[in-house]
Amino acid sequence: MTAGAPVPTAAVLVVGTELVYGLRPDTNGPDVARSVAAAGYTPSVIAALPDDRSVIAAHVRDATSAHDLVVVTGGLGPTHDDVTREAAADALGLPLRVEHDVASTLEGIAEGHREPGAASQVLRQACVLEGARVLTPSTGTAPGQVVPTARGHLVLLPGPPGEMRPMLAESLAALVRREQVPPRVIGCVDIRESDAQLRAERALEGHRGVSLTVLGRPSLVDVVLIAHDLDTAALAAAADEVASALAPHCYATDGASLAEVVVGGAAARGITLGLAESCTGGLVAAALTDVPGSSATFRGAIVAYADEIKRSALRVSHDVLAAHGAVSEACVREMATGAREMLGADVAMAITGIAGPGGGGPDKPVGLVWFAVADGSSVSAGSRAFDGDRSLVRERATVHALDLLRLTVAPRA
Ligand code: ATP
Ligand code: MG
Repeated sequence: MTAGAPVPTAAVLVVGTELVYGLRPDTNGPDVARSVAAAGYTPSVIAALPDDRSVIAAHVRDATSAHDLVVVTGGLGPTHDDVTREAAADALGLPLRVEHDVASTLEGIAEGHREPGAASQVLRQACVLEGARVLTPSTGTAPGQVVPTARGHLVLLPGPPGEMRPMLAESLAALVRREQVPPRVIGCVDIRESDAQLRAERALEGHRGVSLTVLGRPSLVDVVLIAHDLDTAALAAAADEVASALAPHCYATDGASLAEVVVGGAAARGITLGLAESCTGGLVAAALTDVPGSSATFRGAIVAYADEIKRSALRVSHDVLAAHGAVSEACVREMATGAREMLGADVAMAITGIAGPGGGGPDKPVGLVWFAVADGSSVSAGSRAFDGDRSLVRERATVHALDLLRLTVAPRA
């Protein structure tokens, strides 16, 4: 493709009444969109359609006249509701013909059916559009098809994801427009979406050929940079500038998770980690142990939910619990110190709070969470007041705990 030529566009149509009704999650749409983007097409739309011949035909007609590549998944099977073949033939005004190789394979399968009429249903799968290149299934029975259109190509693929994926790869191998630079995901924590967006936009002012999308998750924001007319090195340079503009909130420019950054940072500095968890109930430990290789740095966690376990397993003093309660600065400091000693870790983090919905009061509202980090020379502590229901408070507390660990194990300047 020459510089400045328009980037080809793609549409993805996923067929299945169950998808439109929300009875099954659509995984094919995102899978296909990522693959067509990697093959050099700009994904323009993912649409879910019911198993309805005229609806599918209308969408295929519109999509093939608007886009260079149209990928349809589902509805190629043998049952009465599998009508994608016929709908595509209607849309392009092409006849269906029998693909004899497929038909002879299917004949063996058709013989095994008991119901009269089932055999002819099975054999419908051997019908392909005139002019189509046939993609032989590695699993399942329905073949895929690549059909030339006035603007480019229509690709028909079976619905089951395990059958769809290998045929998608095979079909795209012949349709690659140019190798696309993969998007860069810049992970940020403890920053609001709009602040992240405005800072990133300012950092990108001097850069052309890159667009920005901002994806919020509880307590995390992903700033995604998409290259339109930029090579990998130029996108990496743009990502570095955005990351500096977002410091210290930016934890990764390569799509790594916060837990991966913590584990990687601790490993690089030879620091071992331990946890004392109360309201997060092991969620921080689960996040760290999700990272392959975490055993090199992570010693363990003590989930001390009841006060008596805080006393017996973490050596929190009776006086502290009686005077200040379990959700307090004094308690979280003793939890961190106790975890460090009991687990033999260089750095220990403690978390105690009120996840709700009950248990709050005027001085200690639901969402109040105390955090402490003990590193052997000092103990630092702080609190946060998180919004949301029980699961959100626990999720936000987990993210904040990981972020405090990230800052603790960050490379020394
Ligand atoms: P089959 O021969 O299995 O009938 P098909 O091409 O007709 O193949 P569908 O009938 O549309 O495919 O779907 C079969 C199964 O594949 C569905 O029950 C569903 O589990 C899965 N499936 C279909 N489309 C999707 C999708 N977009 N995302 C995830 N799963 C899907
Ligand atoms: Mg089917």
